[in-house]
Amino acid sequence: MPHGFHDNILIVDLSKGTIDAIHPGGDFYRIYLGGSAVGSYFVLKGTVADTDSLSIRNVMVIAPGVATGAGISGVSRCCVTALSPLTNMVGDSQAGGSIGPMIKRAGLDAIVVKGRADRLSYLLVDGGRATINDASHLAGKTVTEAYDILTAEHGVKNTSVMQCGPAGERLVRFANIMADTSDAFGRAGLGAVMGSKNLRAVVVKGTGELNFANPEGMKELARIGAKRLPGSGFPETLKKYGTPGAVKFQAEAGNFATHNYSRGWHPDYLRLDGSTYEPNIGAGQVSCFGCVVGCRKKVAAESPHRITDRLGGPEFETLGMLGSNLDITDPVSVARANELCNNYGMDTITMGSIAGYLFECVERGLIKPNDLGMENAGFGDAEALFRIIEATARRDGIGDTIAEGFEAMIEKFGEQTRTFAVHVKGAGLAVHMPQVKPSQAIMYAACPIGPDHMSSEHDWLLASASEAGRGLGILGQEDNPSTSTNKVRMTVYSQFYYSLLDTLSLCMFCWGPGNLFTYRELEDLVNCATGWQMTFWELMKAGERRINMMRHINARRGYTRLHDVLPERLYNPLPDGPSQGRCVNRASFTRMMEEYYAFMGWDPQTGNPTAGKLLELGLECAL
Ligand code: SF4
Repeated sequence: MPHGFHDNILIVDLSKGTIDAIHPGGDFYRIYLGGSAVGSYFVLKGTVADTDSLSIRNVMVIAPGVATGAGISGVSRCCVTALSPLTNMVGDSQAGGSIGPMIKRAGLDAIVVKGRADRLSYLLVDGGRATINDASHLAGKTVTEAYDILTAEHGVKNTSVMQCGPAGERLVRFANIMADTSDAFGRAGLGAVMGSKNLRAVVVKGTGELNFANPEGMKELARIGAKRLPGSGFPETLKKYGTPGAVKFQAEAGNFATHNYSRGWHPDYLRLDGSTYEPNIGAGQVSCFGCVVGCRKKVAAESPHRITDRLGGPEFETLGMLGSNLDITDPVSVARANELCNNYGMDTITMGSIAGYLFECVERGLIKPNDLGMENAGFGDAEALFRIIEATARRDGIGDTIAEGFEAMIEKFGEQTRTFAVHVKGAGLAVHMPQVKPSQAIMYAACPIGPDHMSSEHDWLLASASEAGRGLGILGQEDNPSTSTNKVRMTVYSQFYYSLLDTLSLCMFCWGPGNLFTYRELEDLVNCATGWQMTFWELMKAGERRINMMRHINARRGYTRLHDVLPERLYNPLPDGPSQGRCVNRASFTRMMEEYYAFMGWDPQTGNPTAGKLLELGLECAL
C-alpha cells in the first residue's frame, strides 16, 4: 500500500446494525484518491436510477483526502457525498474544521453509511472501534445543544462531531450537516439524508499517527504556506476580514445579488463588508486544522439581537443571500439569521433564495403576509426572515411547504410565481452573478452538483493573464464579460482543477489558482504523502474523472442537457449599479454550452458522458 492511506473504509449498515471494514488496495486509491471521488464511486455503485434520496437505499459517504490532517494550510477538509434531496442529482459538499483530520487519525479513509436505523442513533468512532448508539436524548436538539451533550459524554479532546441538526431530523430538503458547531457541509441537503437514516450524529475520536512517505517534505510545505501568507493578496485579505472582506470589491463590481437577484449591487453594501462591521461585532477567529490563514471570523452581539460566538459569523455568501438579496443590510440581523440557520442546520444560500422569492411575491401582491402566517413580511424585514427560518426548521405552518423547496412553493402559490423563484434544479443561486461572470452561467447550468460557485475558477483568471492561468493551459487575456471560446476553455480546465481539489479535500483559498501554493507544490503534496510520482496530468485526470462519474450518476437518473437551464431573470439587464445593463446573453450562452459539452467530450445530444469517455477515464465500473 502507498503511504497516506490506511486502506481501511468503514461500511456502516444502519438497517442491519453492522459495521464492517473493506480494504480496496492501492490501485483503487490511485484511481479515486479520496474525498469526493471516493464518495462518488460508492454512490455510483451503491445506488440505482430510481433510488430516492431520502430512502433506505441512498448511500452517504464521508471522506477526507489523502493528506488530510497533515498540519499544512488548506489540507483539513472533508467531503460528504450522497444523492441530494434538494436537486435529485448527486450531492456533494465539503467542510473544514477538524472532522476530516479526526477521521484520518482514527485510521479511516472513509465512512460509508447505508440503510436506516430503526430509531434515532449516532455513530461513535473511537480509534479502531466503531459502535452504533441510541440518540433518542438528542431528538429535536439544536446543533449547539447536541454538540454539548455529545462532548460531555465523549470529551472534547481529539474529538469532532458531525450532525444533521433538527432541520435534518425533520427532512428539510436543504438541511446541512454541521461539523462541531460552525463548519457547514452546505448546499446539497445532505443533512436530510442523515435525518432519513435516523443518524443524528457521527462522533469521531482520532488519536492515531499519520504515515506519510516524506514527512520532511510535508513539513516543508507547511513552512512554505506560512512564509508566503504575508503579501499573498487574497489569502491575506481572508486572514484579516475572512470572506466578508470580499463584499466591498464584489459589490463594487456589481456582483452582489440584491433584491432577489434583480440587482447586482445594494447602495448600503459597505455595512455588510467585513472591514466595516468587524470592529463592532467581530469576536476573533478560528482556523481549520493546521491552517495559517484562519479565515473563519466569529461575531458576537447583544443588540439588537443577541448573537453568541459559537456558531460562526456569516460568510460572504450568507451576507449576500440573507443580506443584500433581501435588502437587509444590518450586519447584526444577518448574523442572527446566519446563527439561526446554523443552529438548526440549514443552508443559508437556498434559505436566502427562498426568502427572496417569498418577499418578491409579497411585493408584487401574488401572496399575502398572511399566507406566511404573519401580519407583515417583505424586503428589508429581518423579523419576517427570522420567522421564516424558524418555521422552516420546525416545519410549522408554511414552513412545512418551504422545507420541501421551490417546486412545492410554486405548486402552493401558483405558476405565476415561478418567475421569481431564482434557482437551478431546486438549489438557490449563490451571490456570484452569472450576469456579471459568464463562466458561472456555465457552471450554474451544468455543474453536476447543481449551481455551485466553487466548482471552477471565476472569470478573473482569464482577465489576469497570470501564471495561475497559464499553468492550467489558459492563455491569452480577456475582460471579465468575455463569453469567448477561450472563456469556455478556462471554465473547463479550471473545473477539472477544482474537482481535483475536492478529490484531495483541499481548500481553494489556499490551493486555488494564484493563492498560497503552486501547481507544482500540489504535486509535491500528493507525492510526499503517498510516495507515488503522480504527475499533474494524472492528477487533473482524477479531477475530470470525478466530474464524469457525477454527471453519469445524474444521467442514469434521467438528467440531460435539457435540464441545464438558467432562471429567466438572468436574461434581463440589471437595472442599476456598477453592473447596469449586464445580463446573460441568450445566444452567447447557447453557444458557450455547445462548446462546453464538446470540450468535455460528452454526447452532443444528451450532454452526458459517452461510453468512450467513461472508458478513457478508467470508469469501466460505470458501464
Ligand atoms: S483558508 Fe480558511 S477555510 Fe480554508 S482551510 Fe484555512 S481557515 Fe479553513
